[in-house]
Amino acid sequence: MTYSYISHLYCPKCSKTYCTSETHHLCTCGSPLLVNYDLEALSVSWTKESLKERSPDLWRYHELLPLQDPSHRVTLGEGMTPLLSLPVLGDDMNIGRLDMKDEGVIPTGSFKARGAAVGVSKARELGVRELAMPTNGNAGAAWSLYAARASIIPTIVMPVDAPKITRNECAVSGARLFLVNGLISDAGRIISQAVKDPDIYDVSTLKEPYRIEGKKTMGLEIAEQTGWKLPDVILYPTGGGVGLIGIYKAIRELQQLGWVEDGRMPRLVAVQSEGCAPIVKAWEEGRTESDFWENSETMAFGINVPKAIGDFLVLDAVYKSNGCAVAVSESSILEEQQRAAQMEGTFVCPEGAASFSAARKLRRENWIKDGEHVVVLNTGAGIKYPDTVNLDIPVLQPGDVLEKKV
Ligand SMILES: *Cc1c(COP(=O)(O)O)cnc(C)c1O
Ligand SMILES: [Zn+2]
Repeated sequence: MTYSYISHLYCPKCSKTYCTSETHHLCTCGSPLLVNYDLEALSVSWTKESLKERSPDLWRYHELLPLQDPSHRVTLGEGMTPLLSLPVLGDDMNIGRLDMKDEGVIPTGSFKARGAAVGVSKARELGVRELAMPTNGNAGAAWSLYAARASIIPTIVMPVDAPKITRNECAVSGARLFLVNGLISDAGRIISQAVKDPDIYDVSTLKEPYRIEGKKTMGLEIAEQTGWKLPDVILYPTGGGVGLIGIYKAIRELQQLGWVEDGRMPRLVAVQSEGCAPIVKAWEEGRTESDFWENSETMAFGINVPKAIGDFLVLDAVYKSNGCAVAVSESSILEEQQRAAQMEGTFVCPEGAASFSAARKLRRENWIKDGEHVVVLNTGAGIKYPDTVNLDIPVLQPGDVLEKKV
């Protein structure tokens, strides 16, 4: 049995192809590379029924993943997160059917675990011993922990302002961790110097082609969890945009396999904060690439990316799916985070809350139509960001008596 139907790497800009038996980063033209599969052969040999026997993690889709030998698999049990119905919050937004894909319950507490599981596994298969990346926190945390499990040494550089818990995750797993007094783009410049050392494998966003394959599994799972019908709209908090590119790629591959109806594509929404909205600006101007966003700032740290290397792929997925790009205010992020917790008992991360805020806005503008099925990605656990909640809690003395609430 063939474990993976990977065939080659290709450049989405200039169509140049590369083999998968050695490490590759960007194309010679500067574009990220994407993974191609032999979908024709796979469509003959693979059935939906075969999934019934498989474990509830992302490796159930191994034919559509790049790892060729399962013995290199590095897993913490990631994937098959709940697609949770949110009827009360949906009612409050006047959305007919609102579901949340909850990535808060995945190992390392964010969906970055998906990219790390597949990326680190493939790195191990390619013989990598050391890797390095810039991060806004969650990716560094996930890659550090998975690298530890694979006995690969990670070097991580993150902004001093990145969520503190993500530092701890890197440090506790023994990563070489550095903080930079600046943004992820500054961390990126430091890493690009470091990886001139040929022994260090550069795993910066989209500079290695396999992270996106891991994130793609969110799209595969949404398809399977909706009985291969798919929702009308998917909202995704967009930083580097890897998840959105991945979801689009997943659904295209399922169309080609004949597992979802040809032409069936949810409208993909790239959600950003008003404090960092380069993709939204480019989309509003009808452009295919974005400009660097100066002085970016948002509490939704995972989407504080002033210029994404895969911006043209994100915008392409948004245009081709008839989707849109939306910026939301910082105060609306906090409001939605509270509403989700109070109405549905789910403590979402600020990035996820941003997507709820965008859903409310798009329904109000009637871009989301009456009765449509909407899926929001909650990309991480609220408990990773304890400082976003404003606390004003009364302190009692032993023996105090509580007054009855009026
Ligand atoms: C990284 C991150 C994002 C953005 O992901 P991209 O795929 O880079 O756009 C969103 N939410 C959280 C919690 C993240 O850590
Ligand atoms: Zn190219």
